[in-house]
Amino acid sequence: MAEQPERTTELGTGAARAAVAFDPLARVWLTEAEVGSSRPDLAYVPRLDGSLRVDLGSLADDGDDFGHIVHHPPGSVLRTGSVDDIAAMIRFCDAHHIEVAARGQGHATFGQAQVAGGLVIETEPLSRIGPVGEREVTVGAGAVWSAVVKETLRHGLTPPVFTDYLELSVGGTLSVGGLGGQARLFGAQVDNVIALEVVTGAGEVVSCSPTRRPDLFRAVLAGLGQCAVIVSATLRLISAPATVRRYQLSYSDLETFLDDQRRLAETGPFTYVEGTAEQDENGAYTSFVIEAVAYGPPAGSTGTVPDEDVAEAEDVAEDVAEALRGLGYDGSGPIVAEALGYFDFLNRLASGVADLKNAGYWTWAHPWLNLVLPGDRAAELARTLLDGIAGQDVGPGGVVLLYPLVRRRLHTPLLRVPDDPVPSLMAVLWTLDPADPAAISARTAANRAAFETVRAAGGTQYPVGAVPMTAADWRGQYGKEWEEFAAAKRRYDPHGLLAPGQHIFTA
Ligand SMILES: Cc1cc2nc3c(=O)[nH]c(=O)nc-3n(C[C@H](O)[C@H](O)[C@H](O)COP(=O)(O)OP(=O)(O)OC[C@H]3O[C@@H](n4cnc5c(N)ncnc54)[C@H](O)[C@@H]3O)c2cc1C
Repeated sequence: MAEQPERTTELGTGAARAAVAFDPLARVWLTEAEVGSSRPDLAYVPRLDGSLRVDLGSLADDGDDFGHIVHHPPGSVLRTGSVDDIAAMIRFCDAHHIEVAARGQGHATFGQAQVAGGLVIETEPLSRIGPVGEREVTVGAGAVWSAVVKETLRHGLTPPVFTDYLELSVGGTLSVGGLGGQARLFGAQVDNVIALEVVTGAGEVVSCSPTRRPDLFRAVLAGLGQCAVIVSATLRLISAPATVRRYQLSYSDLETFLDDQRRLAETGPFTYVEGTAEQDENGAYTSFVIEAVAYGPPAGSTGTVPDEDVAEAEDVAEDVAEALRGLGYDGSGPIVAEALGYFDFLNRLASGVADLKNAGYWTWAHPWLNLVLPGDRAAELARTLLDGIAGQDVGPGGVVLLYPLVRRRLHTPLLRVPDDPVPSLMAVLWTLDPADPAAISARTAANRAAFETVRAAGGTQYPVGAVPMTAADWRGQYGKEWEEFAAAKRRYDPHGLLAPGQHIFTA
């Protein structure tokens, strides 16, 4: 592991302070005032379009994330002004053995975008979107998905797959996979990328795609920031529906719920299928809800041809009735159906998130657990895990998600899912009081135990949560992909600078 610089000795408080030089011996960043007259013993920061921050506020912000569990302040923060800035600073860090992590929206939960004493590259300023093409759009890695879809919808188009929450950066979700209810039909977000522009760990700006530097393309998508920093992505677009119709189906039997999810995932009129497990008044998980969403006809667009991908979804009313007839949801409970505008559906979490922010819960700890269960063991594993957390309060806004993926739609090698036709994503999204660190530690330890249980049954973790992992665990997680991933790491990040907070190639 590269030796890390210590924090600059004299940190400002609130005011933005820019570093102009690095002292390789003392391993501190220095501002202009600290440098004084020209000194030959210092390494001067290259000319930047953005700036290199060393003020305490910037370091504290990027030494934290949505998890609020791990706190490793960097030594400096690049407020990116251009792709050239990123390339120049990675080369600079390479020369001085300073570790580097890209940061999008900082919504990782366990320090994944942090780098103790190193350089954090904030990608947020790389937020350019478009112009929107007939079937694709190129966007900056720092653009958030809400902004991307707002722009593409002006052309009647949409990316096919969305995370439940839209205020995540494109670079951030493409680094992990990007899963949502539409993955059953379209795969993950990483399966809908046409090309990438990246800066490697050697500071080289490279364009890659399935046919151009395909090894790099494969190593970056769902590659947890290990081989390169994504600076822009060309995304596949499909015709957007104007409206959707959302159904909620209640179950009291876990196996029936999972069987029906599997059925809806493999075929049928619902573009989007997710689900939740719910606690009863005794804290036991005894009820389950499928959320199934049928897309309406495409919105009027600017002369684009009809889309074969959504042709299946046109005029679906009859298909929906047929699909619902064959399901085993509780006859006693109502089927809740509602029509929504397409964007309102995608953005459905926004008002709840605003409430959580207003109530102060957004800054609570989020020791999330995200696992992918093999479909043939999903009922047994989900029951074990749910019984294990029965009676425990998942916290304000906390939720247990359980929904199907379809293996044949997932083509990105580094997005690791069990070898099963319909695995299930299970996510326990805890919100815990930060004033109780013992409870948070106990939760991450329990997450680890849950991961081991699922791994022993052939499952994987979806690496966005708070699960302590060793290098050996990662090797197991990547399985047959490990050798190619490790080779790409050696080739594109030869000095092991990038994204050490994932602990994949470092201790
Ligand atoms: C409220 C909420 C809801 C979520 N819902 C979903 C969901 O429905 N589906 C889903 O799949 N995920 C979901 N996630 C998880 C989310 O997709 C990941 O945590 C994602 O990485 C966050 O994006 P970010 O921009 O905040 O990335 P960051 O937290 O900033 O970074 C995460 C990792 O990616 C790396 N990285 C970031 N940008 C780049 C880049 N440009 N190039 C290379 N590496 C980079 C970082 O170094 C770090 O290792 C959710 C998270 C939250 C907080």
